[in-house]
Amino acid sequence: MTKNASEVASVSLEVLAKYEAVIGLEVHVQLLTKTKIFCGCSTRFGDPPNTNVCPVCLGLPGTLPVLNKRAVEMAMRAALALNCTVGERSRFARKNYFYPDLPKGYQISQYELPLATQGWLEIEHAGEKKRVGITRLHLEEDAAKNLHEGFAESTTKAYIDYNRCGTPLIEIVSEPDMRTPEEAYAYLTTLRQIMLYTRVSDCNMEEGSLRCDANVSVRTKGSKEFGTKVEVKNLNSFRYLQKALEYEIERHIGVIESGGKIYQETRLWHQAEGFTVPMRSKEKAHDYRYFPEPDLLPVHVSAAWREEVRRTLPELPAAKRARFVAQYGITPYDAGVLTDSQDLSDYFEAVAKAGATGKSAANWMQTELLRRLNDSGKEIGASPVSPSALAELIQLVESSQITGAVAKKVFATMFETGRGAKEIVATEGLGAKVSEDAIEQAARAVIAKNPENVAKYKSGNEGVFKFFVGQVMKATRGQANPQAVNDILKKLLS
Ligand SMILES: [Zn+2]
Repeated sequence: MTKNASEVASVSLEVLAKYEAVIGLEVHVQLLTKTKIFCGCSTRFGDPPNTNVCPVCLGLPGTLPVLNKRAVEMAMRAALALNCTVGERSRFARKNYFYPDLPKGYQISQYELPLATQGWLEIEHAGEKKRVGITRLHLEEDAAKNLHEGFAESTTKAYIDYNRCGTPLIEIVSEPDMRTPEEAYAYLTTLRQIMLYTRVSDCNMEEGSLRCDANVSVRTKGSKEFGTKVEVKNLNSFRYLQKALEYEIERHIGVIESGGKIYQETRLWHQAEGFTVPMRSKEKAHDYRYFPEPDLLPVHVSAAWREEVRRTLPELPAAKRARFVAQYGITPYDAGVLTDSQDLSDYFEAVAKAGATGKSAANWMQTELLRRLNDSGKEIGASPVSPSALAELIQLVESSQITGAVAKKVFATMFETGRGAKEIVATEGLGAKVSEDAIEQAARAVIAKNPENVAKYKSGNEGVFKFFVGQVMKATRGQANPQAVNDILKKLLS
């Protein structure tokens, strides 16, 4: 343990700067099918242990797998969204190894002929865009789950829940194109967003529907050769991924600088202690004795089927961001926030369609709406204020029937009670209620009191107009219709 810590502590910033990291990620994504990949058992999460099992997923002798077509379709959706080529013919293979959570003694996966290859996804980090290649995307079955806690004899026994065994997974293997932990973080975030948009997975990391392993090595900057890579496992949050990579990169450099050697191995990230420890020397593919799965036919994907699936793809986040900027005139930053999820972007478009300008909709959503949703722990789909209700409120402000300050109060009531903006304004008497005569009176008084500013305005200093508006609003205690104040001042000052 102390050795681990010292390996890192000895590296100075100057030394770190001589090196660059080479990072590739392997991501496992659980597909949102109702049933398992080779049998009809439910994939529901959280059911009592070992209730969603049958002879097929328990690996009993004499059973035969039957491929779930829906799983292939979902994997194709993911592959096409990641710009992959979906092969006309792919094949399942047996990956042989023994582990208690794998009752057959092998996992049905894909090896030589994966479902899809050669894709890419674009990440953005620190304002720079970069394409990360995707080597392959293949289908496989998940293993069962080992439960080490929570049972009477947990201290001496391991418990296994076979409910997860046979849940469809896709494994997405990237090219070693990332150079920093931040890029790896951006890749995983972007990948997750695309999986959510295409609705192939709920990507819930806590429930294990999104899992990530990283391959990392270092080399001196400018070098074309790869260093020896290490696989890091147990990265079950975005933060862990970044921390573990930062640690591992420094460890590699420390070892190399002190004349040591990096061994190709699998290491486990220990979040609490903040370091990785060796788990096992890395298996090579031949250790698994892969061979074509004799119980399943090859998978044929016709061009027609592939194109049918392609047509069902939604607009993806990057395209949507670009469209929002062009169509609604909002900033790229706002577009990024508002396309974070499909539900959020749908809400935004619904507000705009109901008559609010893009800019106002973006502002109201990012300030009042998201803050209140966040405070009350609600998702956008459960917002007590509907898109059309928010649009109604925005229109009241934009037509100067209420002031911005009043609108915030009205919004608070809308959020708490679900009532409509117009109705709240009418029943609580919140509309602008200063008569035009009163505004004119106030405006004349302000003008009379400030002859120098009147002169400035008349000599072409337009900026001073705001001063007059502010003074009249103040004189009317902020309750005058701002548009009327503008109009009256313009008339009196011309
Ligand atoms: Zn089953």
